[in-house]
Amino acid sequence: MAHELPPLPYDFNALEPHIDAKTMEIHHDKHHAAYVAKLNDALGKHPDWASKSLDDLLTNLKSVPEDIRGAVNNHGGGHSNHSIFWETMGPDGGGTPDGALGDAIQSAFVSFDDFKAKFAAAAAGRFGSGWAWLCLDAGGQLVVKDFANQDSPLAAGLKPLLGLDVWEHAYYLKYQNRRPDYVAAFWNVVNWKNVASRYQAAKG
Ligand code: MN
Repeated sequence: MAHELPPLPYDFNALEPHIDAKTMEIHHDKHHAAYVAKLNDALGKHPDWASKSLDDLLTNLKSVPEDIRGAVNNHGGGHSNHSIFWETMGPDGGGTPDGALGDAIQSAFVSFDDFKAKFAAAAAGRFGSGWAWLCLDAGGQLVVKDFANQDSPLAAGLKPLLGLDVWEHAYYLKYQNRRPDYVAAFWNVVNWKNVASRYQAAKG
């Protein structure tokens, strides 16, 4: 069963004015679609790996056959990262997380504002292309990390909860070189309800 591009869970213009419709259309329909297509191309060489779930592939990346490991890392990572990205944003986003996630963020980072500052610094400081993430580590602690390119937190033993794509393709049409402005705008579209669900599932 081939991997499939998930539909965007809202309209291209749903995140305006923070993320523009043209960027969303190209990002989902072209960039994400290409990661899915290239992942399927790579897995075509190893049918026994083609039936594994995306999370299994990335969690067990070191066991993936060497001739396709790089492609699975790049394109499988790209598929996974973007699938999470769309789900954790939304037109009714923003605000602050409450409940167990809100408590855990306060416990790990002192305050929600301190968490935002740490996440924004990771997003701004990632040199070149990559992602900033809020993850749950193996010890059940919330951590902020940044990764290069499409490297998935899953391959590093982390469970990704909230990610921000800081590749130029994610913001250049609207923000050009002003990555910090894009990072600041992101807080207006975060779907904390979805992030809280991911947190509950990750805690198990
Ligand atoms: Mn992207």
